[in-house]
Amino acid sequence: VYYAGDCNAGSKTIAVNLPNDEEIQQQKGTRRSQLKNAMKAKFDKILVPIAKELIDKDQQKYIKFDSFFANVMFHEVAHGLGIKNTITGKGTVRSALKEQYSWLEEGKADILGLYMVTGLLKKGELTGDIKEYYTTFMAGLLRSVRFGASSAHGKANMQCFNYFKEQGAFQRSTNGTYKVDFDKFATAMNGLGNLIITLQGNGDRVAVENAQKAKGIIAPELQADLDRLSKKGIPVDIVFEQGVDVLGVK
Ligand SMILES: [Zn+2]
Repeated sequence: VYYAGDCNAGSKTIAVNLPNDEEIQQQKGTRRSQLKNAMKAKFDKILVPIAKELIDKDQQKYIKFDSFFANVMFHEVAHGLGIKNTITGKGTVRSALKEQYSWLEEGKADILGLYMVTGLLKKGELTGDIKEYYTTFMAGLLRSVRFGASSAHGKANMQCFNYFKEQGAFQRSTNGTYKVDFDKFATAMNGLGNLIITLQGNGDRVAVENAQKAKGIIAPELQADLDRLSKKGIPVDIVFEQGVDVLGVK
């Protein structure tokens, strides 16, 4: 895999679900790829260091690569599912929401991916402890809000962070670490999933834009915590050393 142009300019993709076109999706379905080496690099060099700084000391044992991998995998699965056409006669969700589509769709994939993880774990199709999936997801929120408001992923994670905070899904201690409340985390997940699917189904672009302005933001307290990560030199993203000269086949 070689990353060039737009794909190499911003945040590095770690998994894909294609095609994006709804018509082909409904006729032929979708396929997913997971880029495990890129995921492992992000997990080791970014997610774990973030967790060490910002996740409650007693919950750090729940940060697991397998949970990260599953959360990302079901994020991609969720892209392939869900509402493709509005229920209000406004055509596809994508065409109705226009520039507001991408960030909301990323938020949908995050939250419904976690919903699937929760359901499959209950059915015994996945192994592990839900605490691992939820705590790793929490660290993932803190990782991905750093992509900023210019990124669809950044905005989606800000919405989720702020929604979860309001619902008490986690608590920030005075020493600046975040502790997951597992029961409330599940409740908030269901609530946000409901909210996002309803916004998509209604195809109300103004409502989505308002949600983005209200929730797709980083409050000063969170910003101060993120600044601690930058000061520690924890990167926002990885950089690929790639190309024919790196491979020695020039
Ligand atoms: Zn996505």
